[in-house]
Amino acid sequence: MNKQLIEIDGASGEGGGQILRSALTLAMITGQAFQIKNIRAKRPKPGLLRQHLTAVEAAAAICGAQMTGAQIGSTSLSFKPGAIRAGDYHFAIGTAGSCTLVLQTILPALWFADAPSSVSVKGGTHNKAAPPADFLIRVWQPLMARMGVQQEITLKRHGFYPAGGGEICATVSPCPSLQGFDLCQRGALRSISATALIAGVPAKVAQRELAEIEQKIAGVSTAVRGLSNDQGPGNAVLIEIEHENITEMFTSFGEKGVSAEAVGKQVAHQVQRYLHSGAAVDEFLADQLVLAFALAGSGRFTTTHASAHLLSNIDVIRQFLPVNITQTQVEGGVEIVVS
Ligand code: ATP
Repeated sequence: MNKQLIEIDGASGEGGGQILRSALTLAMITGQAFQIKNIRAKRPKPGLLRQHLTAVEAAAAICGAQMTGAQIGSTSLSFKPGAIRAGDYHFAIGTAGSCTLVLQTILPALWFADAPSSVSVKGGTHNKAAPPADFLIRVWQPLMARMGVQQEITLKRHGFYPAGGGEICATVSPCPSLQGFDLCQRGALRSISATALIAGVPAKVAQRELAEIEQKIAGVSTAVRGLSNDQGPGNAVLIEIEHENITEMFTSFGEKGVSAEAVGKQVAHQVQRYLHSGAAVDEFLADQLVLAFALAGSGRFTTTHASAHLLSNIDVIRQFLPVNITQTQVEGGVEIVVS
């Protein structure tokens, strides 16, 4: 394995937080030290925000890393990992920053620990531009289980922007080996269900969002899920699509100044685009799945298109792992093969 310090430019490709988080995960697992500059250079507020710093600190706690540059606002970091240690870990982001992104950074490392672990992360559980907790539980976790991962993720309390205050817990057992698989076909459609989450928001808002979705998506079942007011204010609409080989999920968030109908329409469009594409995996899941398949050293899937997130993640993976990742244009999308 490469023992040189890996140098990463956080301004390359997509230029966001994913480049840093993937580097942390891969460093913990491979034992490779890395240095990153220009962290999140293509974001309006570059550098480490609370969510990214928590991911860095959590990764360091799990593998006893030596590091420099781990401060809020920092645009460079050096990270020298030690051995992965199982444990009972508790991390708090301190803002509504995404708990799921922190969990996705550290859980893969704990798959390779020598004993079971438990983790709690407090912060936001349903954030824009991040997988909602339900996505981790209903979409990501079953696919990881199919690879041999033994973990259980539980949403303890919802946390929405800007209040945060949510909590997600996970238990992980070490997995002897990871196996990639073939996810090129969705298989037959089984169900489409939409859930409108509301906390401290009038029920009428959820009903209007769901009415819009019913008009746009044939055969969808709908439900309003009212949460206690103290978990809010917050409103998200989640649409889960279950096919024989994969469950996917699409989300939109209620916002001041945006009508409930617009929120419903936005998520319905995502669903329609996915259903029309013919690909098994949507854009968001693709960059999350490619990392797991790369750790397994094998796997293939079709996705709607090769997003900038996916391509940037592939670039980071190639710096740490001796895997071959190819993309081929196929009918209805792109096929990604990891070997
Ligand atoms: P920033 O780029 O501001 O640093 P970030 O740290 O949140 O933001 P990104 O680099 O944008 O990180 O990565 C966001 C991650 O969240 C990606 O893995 C992306 O696939 C995933 N994601 C974004 N939106 C969704 C969604 N609606 N459902 C599932 N996953 C999502």
